[in-house]
Amino acid sequence: MDAQVIVAGAGPTGLLLATELERAGASVIVLERLAGRTGQSKALSLQPRSAEVLHSRGLLVSAGELIPAGHFAGLPVRLDYSPLPTRFPYQVGVPQARVEDLLEARLTVPVRYGHDVVDVDQDDDGVTVHTDRGPLRASYLVGCDGGRSTVRKLLGVPFPGRDPRVSGVVADVTLVDPAGRAPASWDLPSLVPIDGAVLTLLPLDGGVFRLLTAGPEQQGTDRDDPVTADEITRALDRAYGGSPRLGEIRWASRFSDTTRQAETYRAGRVLLAGDAAHVHSPTGGQGLNLGLQDAFNLGWKLAATVRGTAPAGLLDTYSAERHPVAAEVLANTQAQAVLMVPDPDVAALRGVFQDLLRVPGANRHLAGRISGIDVRYEPGRHPLVGARMPDLDLEADGSPTTVAGLLHDGQPLLLRFDGGDLGAVLVRPDGHVAWAVDAGERDEEGLAAATERWFGTPQPARNVRR
Ligand SMILES: Cc1cc2nc3c(=O)[nH]c(=O)nc-3n(C[C@H](O)[C@H](O)[C@H](O)COP(=O)(O)OP(=O)(O)OC[C@H]3O[C@@H](n4cnc5c(N)ncnc54)[C@H](O)[C@@H]3O)c2cc1C
Repeated sequence: MDAQVIVAGAGPTGLLLATELERAGASVIVLERLAGRTGQSKALSLQPRSAEVLHSRGLLVSAGELIPAGHFAGLPVRLDYSPLPTRFPYQVGVPQARVEDLLEARLTVPVRYGHDVVDVDQDDDGVTVHTDRGPLRASYLVGCDGGRSTVRKLLGVPFPGRDPRVSGVVADVTLVDPAGRAPASWDLPSLVPIDGAVLTLLPLDGGVFRLLTAGPEQQGTDRDDPVTADEITRALDRAYGGSPRLGEIRWASRFSDTTRQAETYRAGRVLLAGDAAHVHSPTGGQGLNLGLQDAFNLGWKLAATVRGTAPAGLLDTYSAERHPVAAEVLANTQAQAVLMVPDPDVAALRGVFQDLLRVPGANRHLAGRISGIDVRYEPGRHPLVGARMPDLDLEADGSPTTVAGLLHDGQPLLLRFDGGDLGAVLVRPDGHVAWAVDAGERDEEGLAAATERWFGTPQPARNVRR
């Protein structure tokens, strides 16, 4: 074996998975088709749950701009994140490329750039991963190779869903005035209606703007059609009437609302995670969130499997837990896409939705979904079971700490509390609660069952003497 696990794809999902595998003691090889990092970012911010996930491994070292709200279908009544039970009741403005840099810096093995996975064979003992530079062998392969995943296609895993109805362009551009100058500031509306669609212009650092548009010209284009300066110039002209004009294109790409999900995330010794397992419209900014959570759910389970300590069936809980979460995101992005169709009847529906978002309970419901904070796996006897453990302030051995601080090593936690409503809680390495009791309650049988279900039969303690 060249490693215990091969990860195909060094996007955010593959990189977080690789760091989690290493943390839990598994050896890993990361293969990336590109020659190196591009420094480009599709996502510009982290949803609250992604911020929590990275924070719980000590990875969110420099928090960026804090964005206190999310949105649903771009409705003007924003999703209020302030009531969410988290240390991050906001989106954190860290671009995807920065997240990838932080994760890559944690790896002890270098990413193998310029390695394109082209074929996969699996047998009872392992997986042979064929790259354009030769074969490699491991016990497991995880396809984190994005929406057009080669691994998924090679496995033949069905990818049901629908083709795009809306296509758009995303580009990072500089702007100039009609005289060709780039003024220090622009007083531009960021959301402009054009030809039955909208153009969005968000200021980034260094005089660069993120432009997003999905007008008639973009419909029917292929993902691989190059984005031209003429196409962006036409969109800018229609929105702003000739001022500002396009300066430079720093990066441009096409996106769509193609909506598809792999029927299963596991085929024998090969698993799928992130965009390789699910694609949907970028509306609401949920794709990176989903991919990071997939990796966080899978890492400790796969590491225990290759180390031989996993209880029976542990690896299958990955697909069982994560498939419904992505299915819900696909459904909410489809609903958002309908609410964005330019049509008078849909405008009426938007009005109804907007009113509903003013109702605190309705707003809280959607905020919990889009932020990822309300993700809940299989419930249990106690209401916390399946939910993610809130990041409480604690005192351990006389020193202040937090749940997130105790999770840095990626070990399961059994916390017994001296005061408060909660008596004890068993927390999985991904921060989700496996078992809990309230103060004054005992449930040692339930604790033993949960421990065995998630972590296997404990080895008896040995007394060792010198
Ligand atoms: C315009 C736009 C805006 C977005 N904004 C947000 C946002 O605000 N918030 C959010 O949460 N999400 C957002 N997303 C979604 C988010 O960017 C993706 O969900 C995220 O990149 C998925 O990460 P990933 O690692 O699963 O896949 P990717 O980022 O696609 O990474 C896959 C990697 O695999 C490599 N690869 C592919 N094939 C092979 C092969 N055969 N062999 C080896 N390597 C291979 C690729 O080169 C790539 O590096 C946005 C997406 C778009 C298009």
